Amino acid sequence: MFKLLKYGFEDFVDYVNNKQQYWNNLIDSLKFWCNWYKNKLICVRYPWLFINSGVYPWLDNQYTEIWIDCMPEGWRKRFGWKMVRDIDKYLRKHKIKDYHIDQVKEKYGELCWYDNAGPELSKIKEKYEELSARTCVICGKDATHISAGYVCPYCENCMNDLLKRQPLRKFNKL
Ligand SMILES: [Zn+2]
Repeated sequence: MFKLLKYGFEDFVDYVNNKQQYWNNLIDSLKFWCNWYKNKLICVRYPWLFINSGVYPWLDNQYTEIWIDCMPEGWRKRFGWKMVRDIDKYLRKHKIKDYHIDQVKEKYGELCWYDNAGPELSKIKEKYEELSARTCVICGKDATHISAGYVCPYCENCMNDLLKRQPLRKFNKL
């Protein structure tokens, strides 16, 4: 009883001292579960967006991330959901039940969408893969530049932001 009072009091003091942290943690966990539930609902509509890793069975049945989240934000905004709807339409039309995605990622500045679909669906994917190469990965506007080294398409605004944050260094004179 004394312990309970003591720890209860300590928690209270903790709360008073770290009010901001307390609320931040609460908001973070609310965000987490909102996202989790949102993804669960999306997977009811599009079950093939669920990441069934297989490799990490204990991570399965979690909805913290679904396949569309593996796409850079700009692309997701610009055409991500349009692509999902196009694929869904195709799957329904052809009554394909065993469709599954192996990987979705950005590679050399282009969208890569690996799945078990036949060539007909490839046409849909190719359309968006081509579009991705010309779309800013950050905001989704038309890309005007492409980075060298790590290849990624950017629009004028986001490129300037990026250069501000990561200015190029001058070589020291030898
Ligand atoms: Zn941009």
